[in-house]
Amino acid sequence: MALPSTAPPTLLVVDDEPDNFDVIEAMLSVQGYILHYVSNGQAALDCLNTVQPDLILLDVMMPGLDGMAVCRQIKALPQERGVPIIMVTALDSKQDLSRCLEAGADDFLSKPINRVELVARVRSMLRIRQQYQQLASFNAELESLVQQRTAQLQVMIDTDALTQLPSRPQLLQATSMALQSADRSKEGAITAPMPDHGVALAHLDCDHFKLVNGAFGYDVGNDLLKAIAQRLQQLLRPGDVLARMGGDEFCFLLHHLDHPALLESWTQAVFESFAKPFRVANCDFFMSVCMGVALADTATAQPETLLQAADTAMHRAKQQGKGSYQVFDAQLTTATRHRLALETDLQRALEHQEFVTYYQPIIRSATGQIVGFEALVRWQHPERHLVPPGEFIPCMEETGLVVQVGLVVLRQACEQLRIWHQQGAPDLTVSVNLSVRQFDSPTLVADIDQMLAATGVNPACLKLEVTESALMNDAEAAIAVMEQLRSRQIQISLDDFGTGYSSLAYLHRFPIDTLKIDRSFVQQIHTGNRSHQVINTIIALSSQLSLSVIAEGIETPEQLQFLQALGCEFCQGYLFDKPQPASEILLKRPPSRADLAASLLEAPTVPT
Ligand code: C2E
Ligand code: MG
Ligand code: MG
Repeated sequence: MALPSTAPPTLLVVDDEPDNFDVIEAMLSVQGYILHYVSNGQAALDCLNTVQPDLILLDVMMPGLDGMAVCRQIKALPQERGVPIIMVTALDSKQDLSRCLEAGADDFLSKPINRVELVARVRSMLRIRQQYQQLASFNAELESLVQQRTAQLQVMIDTDALTQLPSRPQLLQATSMALQSADRSKEGAITAPMPDHGVALAHLDCDHFKLVNGAFGYDVGNDLLKAIAQRLQQLLRPGDVLARMGGDEFCFLLHHLDHPALLESWTQAVFESFAKPFRVANCDFFMSVCMGVALADTATAQPETLLQAADTAMHRAKQQGKGSYQVFDAQLTTATRHRLALETDLQRALEHQEFVTYYQPIIRSATGQIVGFEALVRWQHPERHLVPPGEFIPCMEETGLVVQVGLVVLRQACEQLRIWHQQGAPDLTVSVNLSVRQFDSPTLVADIDQMLAATGVNPACLKLEVTESALMNDAEAAIAVMEQLRSRQIQISLDDFGTGYSSLAYLHRFPIDTLKIDRSFVQQIHTGNRSHQVINTIIALSSQLSLSVIAEGIETPEQLQFLQALGCEFCQGYLFDKPQPASEILLKRPPSRADLAASLLEAPTVPT
């Protein structure tokens, strides 16, 4: 749309009488308008492109096309619709005038023409014309501005600001196109159909990225993400797309992966690209990623579904640990659905106080005396009855719910211990398990302090069981927490020893009191395997480090005797008792060693 011109307005006069034009020209001469004249309707229509009038003075009565017909045709032309038309007519009945208006005329002048009236009407129409043009040009400007902004916004939506990579919406769009063209090429295949689409999404998530942000700040974190993006871009093959999905997540759209070997080698290249450190802020950062891949034929061929499948596979890979890789299969969705249902159910269970604590005795091997109990959580499910912790602790670990449930167990255990102490067993201890997540909780020590104060339990009778993985996560932080706990006289046991890092070398660094030999070693004692050597070594080492030792999972008298012979101080296992609710535990006079030996000889099967 042209801007309103500053040139004098152009008028087109259409009249079959040239004299009439002369009259009009004379009357308007001082106004400075540019006047064009045509003598019939068809000529008026023909000259519109060249003349481009700002106003048309149109005679009504003309041979051939009359003024009404010309007016109607001009008003039907989109580009001329805004040009005002004044009908000039000798007719003056109301009917005639209303016909002019119906034909689209904007005004009319009666013949014979009066100069004052002509000048006034022309001026008024030109003013309207000018306003119309201004409005049109304003609208055009506005529209182009809106278009510009929309385009800028689209770029912002489609591009990730940090890495300049395509973002999620653009990836979805590209995936949709890839799926469509894969479909078309499949249809076009006349010979054997293609084995599959060859389109895949590979969803990557950096491992423990938040540690970088936490330790070095967001600027370094952002630079590292840019460096990762650059390195990943080098893995792009022609036609592939790499997008940033937000945070530390990236996604590849891959084409032509029709053969498993191709996917295999591409995947390998991804993991190899993370072998070298990333140089950021003068530091070398070693990063790893987990990756989930979804192939277009294994999911319904919708971009969102495919992305969801890659995401599910990626989360499954995460569960397998750092640097893992998983290809989507349908079973994963079922597992994910179960998993989500479990999460909701566990939250509800916490609200409904369905977590209860069972206790398993810990026995002094030499005397058979109960020295304490290990507190073990159970889920009193309304339909499934008693659910063991193995089925729900890993899920709670991930969601973080284990922190709250752990406090419930700690409270129940401390309250129960106080009851036992009041019942005349003042030295009895209770051991409470702490998961990695609890151990990392910043409020752990304060929570424990609060629990001890609320229950009035002697901290020296509380033992906390941690696993090697909890300590190795961040050894320095773990040592600091353990020091704080020990300064309160709380004791610390290293649980499941031998199953984790099993590095005896680091043991002396951790302020622990007790080692718990994992039951997998105890259960292999008489199988001729070398686990008895392992137990032997652990016991000898513990004595050098002045640590006490508890053997877990003792089920047979033979296992007990073997451990006694090695000098294992404390024992725990079904041989003595399974975990039970406190209500079923009666603290009796500690049996003598002779009593115990006699009872074991009488009952070679496992007592419950
Ligand atoms: P854990 O701390 O090593 O506990 C010992 C596990 O071995 C218990 O399983 C116990 O019932 C079982 N056990 C004891 N003696 C025998 C035996 O002679 N034979 C066999 N086959 N098993 C025996 P449970 O209660 O199912 O607990 C499993 C794990 O769940 C625990 O291993 C612990 O890591 C975790 N857990 C239990 N309660 C809690 C809790 O309150 N908080 C946290 N964070 N973890 C808990
Ligand atoms: Mg334990
Ligand atoms: Mg254990």
